[in-house]
Amino acid sequence: MVREFAQKEVYPTIKEWDRKQEMNPAILPRMAELGLLGICIPVRYGGQGYDYITLGLVCEELERVDSTLRVVMSVHVGLNSLALLQWGTEAQKQKFLVPQARGEKYGAFGLTESGAGSDVASIQTTAKRHGDIYVLNGEKMWISLATKAHN
Ligand SMILES: Cc1cc2nc3c(=O)[nH]c(=O)nc-3n(C[C@H](O)[C@H](O)[C@H](O)COP(=O)(O)OP(=O)(O)OC[C@H]3O[C@@H](n4cnc5c(N)ncnc54)[C@H](O)[C@@H]3O)c2cc1C
Repeated sequence: MVREFAQKEVYPTIKEWDRKQEMNPAILPRMAELGLLGICIPVRYGGQGYDYITLGLVCEELERVDSTLRVVMSVHVGLNSLALLQWGTEAQKQKFLVPQARGEKYGAFGLTESGAGSDVASIQTTAKRHGDIYVLNGEKMWISLATKAHN
Protein backbone atom coordinates (compact mmCIF):
# COMPACT_ATOMS: atom_id res chain seq x y z
CA MET A 1 0.00 0.00 0.00
CA VAL A 2 2.81 2.43 0.91
CA ARG A 3 4.76 1.58 -2.23
CA GLU A 4 1.67 2.24 -4.36
CA PHE A 5 1.01 5.55 -2.57
CA ALA A 6 4.62 6.72 -3.00
CA GLN A 7 4.83 5.60 -6.62
CA LYS A 8 1.47 6.94 -7.76
CA GLU A 9 0.93 10.00 -5.60
CA VAL A 10 4.41 11.27 -4.73
CA TYR A 11 6.79 10.26 -7.52
CA PRO A 12 5.03 11.99 -10.45
CA THR A 13 5.42 15.53 -9.00
CA ILE A 14 8.47 15.18 -6.77
CA LYS A 15 10.84 17.13 -9.04
CA GLU A 16 8.37 19.97 -9.39
CA TRP A 17 8.03 20.38 -5.60
CA ASP A 18 11.75 19.94 -4.98
CA ARG A 19 12.50 22.77 -7.41
CA LYS A 20 10.10 25.00 -5.47
CA GLN A 21 11.77 23.83 -2.22
CA GLU A 22 8.31 23.14 -0.88
CA MET A 23 6.29 20.14 0.12
CA ASN A 24 3.14 19.17 -1.73
CA PRO A 25 0.43 20.30 0.76
CA ALA A 26 -1.72 17.26 -0.07
CA ILE A 27 0.87 14.74 1.11
CA LEU A 28 0.75 15.00 4.92
CA PRO A 29 -3.09 14.84 5.05
CA ARG A 30 -2.94 11.85 2.70
CA MET A 31 -0.35 10.10 4.90
CA ALA A 32 -2.68 10.74 7.84
CA GLU A 33 -5.63 9.28 5.90
CA LEU A 34 -3.60 6.14 5.16
CA GLY A 35 -2.80 5.77 8.87
CA LEU A 36 0.94 6.20 8.34
CA LEU A 37 1.36 9.02 10.89
CA GLY A 38 0.37 6.67 13.70
CA ILE A 39 1.46 3.38 12.15
CA CYS A 40 3.11 1.87 15.25
CA ILE A 41 1.12 3.73 17.92
CA PRO A 42 -1.35 1.54 19.84
CA VAL A 43 -4.97 1.61 18.64
CA ARG A 44 -6.09 2.90 22.06
CA TYR A 45 -4.08 6.07 21.39
CA GLY A 46 -5.46 6.61 17.89
CA GLY A 47 -2.77 4.71 15.98
CA GLN A 48 -2.79 1.64 13.75
CA GLY A 49 -1.17 -0.71 16.28
CA TYR A 50 1.47 -2.20 13.96
CA ASP A 51 4.95 -3.18 15.18
CA TYR A 52 8.34 -1.52 14.65
CA ILE A 53 9.19 -3.81 11.74
CA THR A 54 6.19 -2.31 9.97
CA LEU A 55 7.45 1.20 10.81
CA GLY A 56 10.77 0.22 9.21
CA LEU A 57 9.07 -1.12 6.09
CA VAL A 58 6.95 2.03 5.76
CA CYS A 59 10.13 4.14 6.08
CA GLU A 60 11.92 2.05 3.43
CA GLU A 61 9.09 2.46 0.95
CA LEU A 62 8.85 6.21 1.51
CA GLU A 63 12.62 6.69 1.38
CA ARG A 64 12.69 4.86 -1.93
CA VAL A 65 10.75 7.74 -3.52
CA ASP A 66 11.15 10.80 -1.28
CA SER A 67 13.59 11.10 1.61
CA THR A 68 11.52 13.98 3.03
CA LEU A 69 8.63 11.66 3.81
CA ARG A 70 10.89 9.23 5.64
CA VAL A 71 12.17 12.21 7.67
CA VAL A 72 8.54 13.01 8.52
CA MET A 73 8.15 9.47 9.89
CA SER A 74 11.41 9.70 11.87
CA VAL A 75 10.48 13.01 13.45
CA HIS A 76 6.70 12.90 13.85
CA VAL A 77 6.41 9.20 14.74
CA GLY A 78 9.90 8.20 15.93
CA LEU A 79 11.16 11.15 17.93
CA ASN A 80 7.90 12.81 18.96
CA SER A 81 5.02 10.32 19.24
CA LEU A 82 7.12 7.41 20.50
CA ALA A 83 8.71 9.68 23.15
CA LEU A 84 5.21 10.65 24.29
CA LEU A 85 4.15 7.00 24.32
CA GLN A 86 7.18 5.98 26.36
CA TRP A 87 7.52 8.92 28.75
CA GLY A 88 4.31 11.00 28.60
CA THR A 89 1.72 11.11 31.35
CA GLU A 90 -1.74 9.78 30.50
CA ALA A 91 -2.98 13.39 30.23
CA GLN A 92 -0.14 14.29 27.81
CA LYS A 93 -0.89 11.20 25.74
CA GLN A 94 -4.56 12.13 25.46
CA LYS A 95 -3.78 15.76 24.64
CA PHE A 96 -0.83 15.35 22.23
CA LEU A 97 -0.34 11.71 21.20
CA VAL A 98 -3.91 10.87 20.14
CA PRO A 99 -4.26 13.77 17.62
CA GLN A 100 -0.73 13.08 16.34
CA ALA A 101 -1.39 9.38 15.83
CA ARG A 102 -4.59 10.22 13.97
CA GLY A 103 -2.63 12.70 11.85
CA GLU A 104 -4.77 15.65 12.93
CA LYS A 105 -1.68 17.38 14.32
CA TYR A 106 1.99 17.17 13.34
CA GLY A 107 4.86 16.90 15.81
CA ALA A 108 8.44 18.14 15.54
CA PHE A 109 11.52 17.56 17.69
CA GLY A 110 13.88 20.45 18.42
CA LEU A 111 17.30 19.24 19.52
CA THR A 112 19.92 20.69 17.17
CA GLU A 113 21.56 24.08 17.75
CA SER A 114 24.51 25.74 16.00
CA GLY A 115 26.84 24.30 18.66
CA ALA A 116 25.02 21.07 19.52
CA GLY A 117 24.02 18.12 17.37
CA SER A 118 25.35 14.69 18.35
CA ASP A 119 26.79 16.30 21.46
CA VAL A 120 23.52 16.99 23.25
CA ALA A 121 25.32 18.01 26.46
CA SER A 122 26.38 21.24 24.68
CA ILE A 123 22.78 22.45 24.30
CA GLN A 124 22.50 26.11 25.34
CA THR A 125 18.69 26.42 25.35
CA THR A 126 17.20 26.71 28.81
CA ALA A 127 13.79 25.71 30.18
CA LYS A 128 13.03 27.57 33.41
CA ARG A 129 9.91 27.01 35.45
CA HIS A 130 7.84 30.07 36.29
CA GLY A 131 4.81 28.94 38.27
CA ASP A 132 2.66 26.79 36.01
CA ILE A 133 4.65 27.40 32.84
CA TYR A 134 8.10 26.83 31.42
CA VAL A 135 9.93 29.71 29.76
CA LEU A 136 12.12 28.46 26.91
CA ASN A 137 15.05 30.56 25.69
CA GLY A 138 17.36 29.54 22.89
CA GLU A 139 17.75 29.03 19.18
CA LYS A 140 17.34 25.84 17.16
CA MET A 141 18.26 24.90 13.60
CA TRP A 142 17.45 22.16 11.07
CA ILE A 143 14.16 21.29 12.74
CA SER A 144 12.14 19.17 10.32
CA LEU A 145 8.42 20.05 10.20
CA ALA A 146 9.11 23.23 12.25
CA THR A 147 6.93 25.25 9.89
CA LYS A 148 4.15 22.64 9.89
CA ALA A 149 4.06 21.36 13.48
CA HIS A 150 1.17 22.32 15.75
CA ASN A 151 1.26 23.68 19.33
C1 LIG B 1 17.52 16.03 6.79
C2 LIG B 1 17.83 16.43 8.20
C3 LIG B 1 16.78 16.61 9.09
C4 LIG B 1 17.05 16.98 10.40
N1 LIG B 1 15.99 17.16 11.27
C5 LIG B 1 16.23 17.49 12.54
C6 LIG B 1 15.16 17.67 13.46
O1 LIG B 1 13.97 17.52 13.12
N2 LIG B 1 15.43 18.02 14.73
C7 LIG B 1 16.71 18.21 15.17
O2 LIG B 1 16.88 18.52 16.34
N3 LIG B 1 17.77 18.06 14.32
C8 LIG B 1 17.56 17.72 13.02
N4 LIG B 1 18.62 17.56 12.16
C9 LIG B 1 19.97 17.78 12.65
C10 LIG B 1 20.70 16.49 13.02
O3 LIG B 1 20.06 15.85 14.09
C11 LIG B 1 22.14 16.85 13.36
O4 LIG B 1 22.74 17.25 12.17
C12 LIG B 1 22.86 15.66 13.96
O5 LIG B 1 22.46 15.51 15.30
C13 LIG B 1 24.38 15.80 13.88
O6 LIG B 1 24.78 16.96 14.54
P1 LIG B 1 25.80 18.00 13.86
O7 LIG B 1 25.26 18.38 12.51
O8 LIG B 1 26.06 19.09 14.86
O9 LIG B 1 27.11 17.22 13.56
P2 LIG B 1 28.23 16.82 14.60
O10 LIG B 1 27.62 16.29 15.84
O11 LIG B 1 29.19 17.98 14.73
O12 LIG B 1 28.94 15.65 13.82
C14 LIG B 1 29.84 15.88 12.75
C15 LIG B 1 30.62 14.63 12.48
O13 LIG B 1 31.36 14.20 13.63
C16 LIG B 1 31.03 12.86 13.98
N5 LIG B 1 30.96 12.76 15.45
C17 LIG B 1 30.16 13.45 16.29
N6 LIG B 1 30.40 13.09 17.56
C18 LIG B 1 31.34 12.14 17.54
C19 LIG B 1 32.01 11.39 18.56
N7 LIG B 1 31.72 11.54 19.83
N8 LIG B 1 32.93 10.49 18.15
C20 LIG B 1 33.23 10.33 16.85
N9 LIG B 1 32.64 11.02 15.84
C21 LIG B 1 31.71 11.92 16.18
C22 LIG B 1 29.65 12.60 13.38
O14 LIG B 1 29.47 11.22 13.10
C23 LIG B 1 29.74 13.42 12.08
O15 LIG B 1 30.41 12.69 11.07
C24 LIG B 1 18.40 17.19 10.84
C25 LIG B 1 19.44 16.98 9.94
C26 LIG B 1 19.17 16.62 8.64
C27 LIG B 1 20.33 16.40 7.70
